[in-house]
Amino acid sequence: MAPSASEGPTVTAQPFTATVTGSPRIGPRRELKRATEGYWAGRTSRADLESVAATLRRDTWSALAEAGVDSVPVNTFSYYDQVLDTAVMLGALPPRVAEVDDELDRYFAAARGTDTIQPLEMTKWFDTNYHYIVPEIGPDTRFALDATKVLAELTEAAEVLGRDVAARPVVVGPITFLLLSKAVGGAGAPIDRIDELVPLYTELLGQLADAGADWVQFDEPVLVTDISADAPALAERVYTALGSASKRPAIHVATYFGDPGDGLAALARTPVEAIGVDLVAGGKTALAQVGAVPELREKTLVAGIVDGRNVWRTDLEAALATLATLLGSAQTVAVSTSCSTLHVPYTLAAETDLDDSLRSWLAFGAEKVTEVIVLARALRDGRDTVADQIAASDAAVAARKTDPRLRNEQVRSRIAAITGAGTQRGAAAARREAQDARLKLPPLPTTTIGSYPQTSAIRKARAALRSGEIDRAEYDRRMKAEIADVITLQEELGLDVLVHGEPERNDMVQYFAEQLDGFFAPQNGWVQSYGSRCVRPPILYGDVARPHPMTVDWISYAQSLTDKPVKGMLTGPVTILAWSFVRDDQPLADTANQVALAIRDETVDLQDAGIAVIQVDEPALRELLPLRDAAKDAYLRWAVAAFRMATSGVSDATQIHTHLCYSEFGEVIGAIADLDADVTSIEAARSHMEVLDDLNAIGFSNSVGPGVYDIHSPRVPGAEEMVESLREALQAVPAQRLWVNPDCGLKTRRTDEVTASLTNLVAAAKEARAGL
Ligand code: GLN
Ligand code: ZN
Repeated sequence: MAPSASEGPTVTAQPFTATVTGSPRIGPRRELKRATEGYWAGRTSRADLESVAATLRRDTWSALAEAGVDSVPVNTFSYYDQVLDTAVMLGALPPRVAEVDDELDRYFAAARGTDTIQPLEMTKWFDTNYHYIVPEIGPDTRFALDATKVLAELTEAAEVLGRDVAARPVVVGPITFLLLSKAVGGAGAPIDRIDELVPLYTELLGQLADAGADWVQFDEPVLVTDISADAPALAERVYTALGSASKRPAIHVATYFGDPGDGLAALARTPVEAIGVDLVAGGKTALAQVGAVPELREKTLVAGIVDGRNVWRTDLEAALATLATLLGSAQTVAVSTSCSTLHVPYTLAAETDLDDSLRSWLAFGAEKVTEVIVLARALRDGRDTVADQIAASDAAVAARKTDPRLRNEQVRSRIAAITGAGTQRGAAAARREAQDARLKLPPLPTTTIGSYPQTSAIRKARAALRSGEIDRAEYDRRMKAEIADVITLQEELGLDVLVHGEPERNDMVQYFAEQLDGFFAPQNGWVQSYGSRCVRPPILYGDVARPHPMTVDWISYAQSLTDKPVKGMLTGPVTILAWSFVRDDQPLADTANQVALAIRDETVDLQDAGIAVIQVDEPALRELLPLRDAAKDAYLRWAVAAFRMATSGVSDATQIHTHLCYSEFGEVIGAIADLDADVTSIEAARSHMEVLDDLNAIGFSNSVGPGVYDIHSPRVPGAEEMVESLREALQAVPAQRLWVNPDCGLKTRRTDEVTASLTNLVAAAKEARAGL
């Protein structure tokens, strides 16, 4: 490679041509999950945990090298989270974990807490379903470099890979790290401390060079967001400084999850040797940017052309055409995934239940690596050398386009008709009157969010059904017994609007996906969600249709046991999309409407079965919000439209509830009002007044249930404390509009905690009613 452009040192490193941005680490059979959970529970020794981890790292690296990747990312392994790893590397763990002597235990204490230590917060990694640990930067945070982990993985990788394949350490970049951190203890914005991190990252570069690294990758996905308007300028300043380090590997700055915008030109003006662009999420605008930045011609462009986040097979013909247009834009074009394959399952090979045509449309992690290699080879040796693979890809693309499962004309025309007729329910006042007359609830009605504790009996029954030990009829009988128990409990507690407890649901999205046409639920498609927790998102591949009612039998059964109203419980269209792998051949809005139609049909069937209250959960409304401000309105418009499609098929007398798992509404607050649910239950971790004032400020005038019981903690709140919350709430919202409920579903709690807490909740509601 040519010497770097600026005054800095001469860096000579072989350019690479085929790589991935990062790899999953939980293990193809969730080995790391089992080992860490075993370690936490005291069942697995430290040595066994470390050996499982080492094996997973080795397998990941060898698989990449064997596939033909010529630069293997390392340090993408993590016992919990890469942002937490970075906090450790920078000496930025909060003082409260310092009391834990052992390093690994301290790390886990920061991630999960202990009996005496509050864990750090966790939040979604950009617009993915992966959660990172939010570093806390306080006035006393003293940054200091400890590169032990990355250096150890580099050494270990060199042993596995030998001399032939270069290992490329991956580290979260300083701008992303600070912009994702939160200020605590009255400290200023963490990003104001960027100048303290530059010398540490410079030192890191020196240590990596000494350890033999030719390349390093700094991840700066924050450049594709509008979190800070200063990010491009900061990137230019920081990477100019890092680029002039006296001793360093070649630097690759990876952006992903969208179009880096001005960030691309800013990075290109610095001495870094390679820049990564997500050509999938960044789309045409990112592609145009690449051509428009002349400084890129002296760099390696790491072209993220294979989708690292979704499960669709790459159209190799189209990808190659795109890559061809980039050849003049950079000195070297390296083929890569759009982002880390952390976000997709390991391999299609583990799916035995998949029909051949559907299989031919998909690519999981391992298959994506192969796609990268094929594309890199085509660029290097010519298209003819991979003609067979391209022909297979063309055939799959063609077959997918014409597969009958992709179009259900009846669904499409029904949606057009409903949209044309309008999805506005009757006036809120008329609805209220009709519902009051039907439900005859006391003021400050009490209810819960849906799920009751997932008892071991429930888990055992599910496992027994899966293994064939019991049949469907026996399983249903056991679930009904659970439902009966939950109804009895709620009657004894004196709750006003009951729920069936959701025992039959393994997961609030998968349960519906398994029953709808257009979805496939992988058996082994596990993806890390946070720490040791994994999810198995269903694949939404075709037009969605509902062959039969999905919840009516269960809810009707629950309703048959009581005179109190039982709430039907459904998951909303936005949340179903957010927690699935969604088809990429039509706008999300169209897919959302199809899911919404299925939910709408379910609400109508519930209503016909005599159910008077139906809750449509949308906990993911906020998380699908686009990363760029300019795209947010359009998203919120279709998200609200889909919810209304789902909920406007019922009569005025049917009460629609929705539930959101947060009260930091921010940019979605207007959309929450536009959902026009009769009752919205929300979290209220902040004071009730604040939450309700925010809603009042935008003219929200329907009913609201700010959670008075924090279910995220095992603590049983006292009645007095809940009365106090209600008094506070009543200052912001009149009694006619106020509901009393916990802040989320109860499935993660124990029955004794729930019973005690709900006893207090009902007592608190009674006391507050008496004071009206
Ligand atoms: N109805 C669901 C439950 O109670 C809601 C879950 C959620 O908010 N994520 O479990
Ligand atoms: Zn919730």
